[in-house]
Amino acid sequence: MALMRLDKLLALQTGMTRREAAACVRQGAACLQGQPVRNPAQRVDPRAVTLNGKNLGYEEFVYLLMHKPAGVLTAARDKKQPTVLELVPQELYRRGVQPVGRLDKDTTGLLLLTDDGALAHRLLSPQHHVWKTYLARLSAPPCPGAEERFAAGVVLPDFTCLPAKLTLVQDGSCPVYEVRVHEGKYHQVKRMFLAQGCEVLALQRVGFGPLRLPADLPPGRVRPLLPEERQALL
Ligand code: URA
Repeated sequence: MALMRLDKLLALQTGMTRREAAACVRQGAACLQGQPVRNPAQRVDPRAVTLNGKNLGYEEFVYLLMHKPAGVLTAARDKKQPTVLELVPQELYRRGVQPVGRLDKDTTGLLLLTDDGALAHRLLSPQHHVWKTYLARLSAPPCPGAEERFAAGVVLPDFTCLPAKLTLVQDGSCPVYEVRVHEGKYHQVKRMFLAQGCEVLALQRVGFGPLRLPADLPPGRVRPLLPEERQALL
């Protein structure tokens, strides 16, 4: 694991300012293998440091699961509109955390955020075939044969989609379908349905690779991945 300045590590893990962390270090509160380290600039292995006798619980990367609400941009910052990063509570936030992929402003559901760039890259690459699962409520039933066209690869004016799975979940004049795709082009699911003669009225992502949208995570809330979720993902 990469070494890190001791005062920076303490500030990151405890919420102290760098100045407060440095003062703590000079007082001998931080130890490495049981020995106080009094130089705030010393570079240390974050896993080996204790503060007042307690392990800091440092993890190299942060993995957060958000239930994205409607009306929020999947972006880091925006001058005019609220963004998903603004929904991350300070105690869970770390510099470098970014959403993995994008959901449209009106799309709700599972959004992963992390500072693990290599993992984000792998999850988004079509070659890795990570399934994204959506529930789509439609303005009308799609044209007959939509399941077969999704399975073969929906042809759009500018590209042909990779094969996808379409399953009816709730019949009616505004039916609900489950859609599974393993690419994420701009407005892709909405465009795939438009090509079947219907509009998406509401879109929710309920699965991303091995992750499922937890039933007990309300819209707008964020929590760290559970150890078993992390293991399934890595
Ligand atoms: N497809 C869409 O059309 N919108 C999303 O937000 C995600 C997938």
